[in-house]
Amino acid sequence: MAQDTNSKLTTAEGRPIGDFQNSMTAGPRGPLLIQDVQLLEQMQQFNRERIPERVVHAKGVAAHGTFTVTNDITKYTKADFLNKIGKKTDVFLRFSTVAGEKGAADAERDVRGFALKFYTQEGNWDMVGNNTPVFFIRDPVKFAHFIHTQKRHPKTNMRDMDMQWDFWSQCPESLHQVTILFSDRGLPKTLRNMNGYGSHTYSFINDKNERTWVKFHFKTKQGIKCMTDAESAELIGKDRESHQRDLFNSIEKGDFPQWRFCIQVMNDQQAKDFKWNPFDLTKVWPHADFPLIEVGTLELNRNPENYHAEVEQASFSPSSLVPGIETSPDKMLQARLMSYADAHRYRIGTNYQQLPINRPKCPLANYHRDGSMATAADYGSKPNYFPNTIDGTPKDDPAYKECPMPLATDDDGQVIADRYNSRENHDDFTQAGNLWRLMPEDEKNRTANAIAGVLSQARQEVQMLQLCHFFRADPDYGQRIAKAMNIEIPEDLLQHAVTGK
Ligand code: NDP
Repeated sequence: MAQDTNSKLTTAEGRPIGDFQNSMTAGPRGPLLIQDVQLLEQMQQFNRERIPERVVHAKGVAAHGTFTVTNDITKYTKADFLNKIGKKTDVFLRFSTVAGEKGAADAERDVRGFALKFYTQEGNWDMVGNNTPVFFIRDPVKFAHFIHTQKRHPKTNMRDMDMQWDFWSQCPESLHQVTILFSDRGLPKTLRNMNGYGSHTYSFINDKNERTWVKFHFKTKQGIKCMTDAESAELIGKDRESHQRDLFNSIEKGDFPQWRFCIQVMNDQQAKDFKWNPFDLTKVWPHADFPLIEVGTLELNRNPENYHAEVEQASFSPSSLVPGIETSPDKMLQARLMSYADAHRYRIGTNYQQLPINRPKCPLANYHRDGSMATAADYGSKPNYFPNTIDGTPKDDPAYKECPMPLATDDDGQVIADRYNSRENHDDFTQAGNLWRLMPEDEKNRTANAIAGVLSQARQEVQMLQLCHFFRADPDYGQRIAKAMNIEIPEDLLQHAVTGK
């Protein structure tokens, strides 16, 4: 709503206000009068100032910016905003922590959300990623349980290390992400000094309707910088909004952070031959086999004017896709296609897409109508049903049909619906071990100490189960954590821990 800041002060209904510093009372010492409607309006409005915070990623900070294409990737995708070198698209990027509530400190060890909205000429593309290329689970049936373990204990109402490690020890597919979380990158120094990843595998579709599997990477141009546990504890003591402050101030003084947007691509044959499931969210695609291809530059260059309107009400959903970018069989992605938009309808309301921050900047025409807070102005008396025989009404166009997606079949060529065991025949240890092996010595020690510090707070049974997972990833990884926890592992048990035999 446009507002003339020099205009008269009014009620929400527009009535000019004569005195807004004194309530209306019956005599100078008397009680308030219910006829003081401007006071009532203010108090009632104030009671409703908050909307439910996000159940995850509640603490966030965001900025507007620009994406510029630097490389021609039209052989992979027909996405309009990627079709010409030099083409610019407005973006909005929201960073967040995952577990903490809205008032949580920024500098806590956690995964960071990296949710990016591209306002393209063919609709909004939301790249709802994290600062890690993988996730803790591969089956969405575990998601709510996982988040419960990251939040508060039902009795103590405190974060609880036993809950966290109990769950992780029962779900070794988490080990890769746990390794990243407790490595240096679990504590980014600033939001400008970390990478973003789409994490899931998506599809690119080109103008010949050919599909390529794709992963998205945003590499910081500011360089990776991290904090130690001691530095973060000290910072939290001084400033709970350290990351928000850093980003806001950098942009305010014209020091605009940038990221290099890159992709990895995989064709169908490579997907079949890949030694891991290419749609498993707990795995990366090794760079040596699938090198990064540069696409463009993302720059953040404008702070929001109003935090609530722009950041709190910003709604990102992996289901916001544009022609040329489609889904994949990744189970976690499939579930997120439903759950994000559903969360926004609960948290903000049915018509959250009509808010200025969420509204696409391209022409819009559909048959959605009504619901709470609907702005009917765009549609007026236009038909609210389809198909119809009325001239000038919006019509579908076969040019924009999704590309048919192949699904894996059994030997008889059938697709069988079943509850496939998401733990069976999965290698949960190699990639976590690969990451451990590429860490420099000092990072290995910091990672082992960070894990030992919190794993020690879990029950002994949980400690032992989890230690076995670290040993399976790499004996040195397990040994360093055990040592930091003052746990002596006898040789025969060590053998059992590594091989499971
Ligand atoms: P490479 O040696 O080609 O790449 C290693 C990658 O690890 C780089 O992207 C580097 O990021 C990143 N990295 C370094 N330290 C950390 C850390 N503490 N936490 C998270 N990422 C880190 O190896 P591969 O591609 O063969 O992958 C080996 C391992 O590297 C994987 O198992 C995975 O854990 C990790 N990794 C791989 C990624 C991928 O897409 N292949 C992406 C991110 C991590 P940078 O270049 O920014 O320094």
